[in-house]
Amino acid sequence: MDARRKLFVFVASILLLLCLVFVMIVKKQRSNISGSNTEFPQASTVESFPIPSVQNKRYQVKEFSIIMGAKKFSNKQIGDHKQLYAGYVNKRNEIDTALQTADRTTGNNISYSQFRGLKLAETFTRNAAILHELYFENIGMGTTMGKATEEIIIKHFGSVAAFKEDLMATALSARGWVLTSYNLDDKRVQNYLLDAHNEKVPVLTIPLLVVDTYEHAYMIDFGINRKEYLAVLWDNINWDVVEKRVKEWIYRS
Ligand code: FE
Repeated sequence: MDARRKLFVFVASILLLLCLVFVMIVKKQRSNISGSNTEFPQASTVESFPIPSVQNKRYQVKEFSIIMGAKKFSNKQIGDHKQLYAGYVNKRNEIDTALQTADRTTGNNISYSQFRGLKLAETFTRNAAILHELYFENIGMGTTMGKATEEIIIKHFGSVAAFKEDLMATALSARGWVLTSYNLDDKRVQNYLLDAHNEKVPVLTIPLLVVDTYEHAYMIDFGINRKEYLAVLWDNINWDVVEKRVKEWIYRS
């Protein structure tokens, strides 16, 4: 009897062990299956975004034929400034290219992420390039203010003298740019102050006249004398360009 009982216990133990092994194998397989069907995609699968592929060098460095009057900026001042502008255009292209393949799974607004850095630089270089283009377009040998521009300035500032006073005060207070802009919402024309290419930029406004107030715009010729730079700049505003912008943006809307 003892031998039969021992045999029975042995066989039962083996069967129980086999059952346990079987249950464990089934559980493991189920776990693997449910893991691969998780609701949220794995990081490695988040890599396709509907961004059209574009060729490098989307943005081109523009040429400006700036003909100065009697009071003028030196060729060195203008030349160095143009080189700085070209650098912004090149960086804009570089950032545009980098953003096409940037890792969008690691965005971080608290500290650092490569994607955040690229998005910040995207606005910075875009504004830097475009503002310099608008600036270089509206300087040169000073022309007479056009009738449409004069009318708009008197309407919104009272007189050309009052406009100039406000423009100069704003330019002496700005660290980056001054924009005489047309507001698309309330239809006013105002002088706006920007402390950097991407700081304090007013929305829903169209620049009509752009003044670069960064030191690099005048240090070679005027040292730290911004007032003298602004006086020469005023005499060299190409009002024909401003008139064209006024007619395009104000009189057509
Ligand atoms: Fe500049």
